[in-house]
Amino acid sequence: MNNNRGILLVVSGPSGVGKGTVISKLFEMDENLYFSVSATTRKPRPGEIDGISYNFKTREQFEEEIDNGEMLEYAMYGGNYYGTPKSAVEKKLAQGKDVVLDIEINGARSVSRLMPEAVLVYILPPDMAELRRRLEGRNTETEEMIKLRLETAYHELREAPEMYDFFVVNDVVESAASKIEYILEAKRCSRIAMQKALKQILEEVNSLA
Ligand code: 5GP
Repeated sequence: MNNNRGILLVVSGPSGVGKGTVISKLFEMDENLYFSVSATTRKPRPGEIDGISYNFKTREQFEEEIDNGEMLEYAMYGGNYYGTPKSAVEKKLAQGKDVVLDIEINGARSVSRLMPEAVLVYILPPDMAELRRRLEGRNTETEEMIKLRLETAYHELREAPEMYDFFVVNDVVESAASKIEYILEAKRCSRIAMQKALKQILEEVNSLA
């Protein structure tokens, strides 16, 4: 019974927490998900593919898309723009797909204002020493970038408790992904998500009475 609008799932977490790996695992578990590919002005990292990891844009292109109202939300992070294309998200939600956004905290705040029904999940590291270790182990960032990302992580972690609906610790990837899957399953059973099905049942009940 999937005649409803999809769920908008926002996943955030400090840089280095392993969000990407948890989200990939979640996609292996759940067939109704659509990943929203963001646009960014950041340069591709080795192995990243345009159109799959991100839509890589110049600053001019990005700003034009903002001006044309094509972004659901956007934010500056580490000196680069990142943003969610509006039309793809809208289309997939209307088709009943659950849409996953991997975005930072300012973008999550904008989405939550625009779409209060969105589910906001924050992924936590087991502890801060582990976060630092994971960030340093990535080998794709300069010392300065790591410092900037850690500072941003501290800032996010101070604000996240007031904002997000759910917090999932990424100690073991499978277990973190399963917890997000349970959250989705619970949301799919909520009164709002079941509105159409409930209406149909009520009509049947009333016609029998
Ligand atoms: P990275 O450069 O490591 O790929 O991403 C840096 C940060 O930008 C991450 O926290 C990621 O979640 C966030 N991000 C990626 N895409 C978007 C987006 O479309 N909007 C916003 N607000 N943040 C994004």
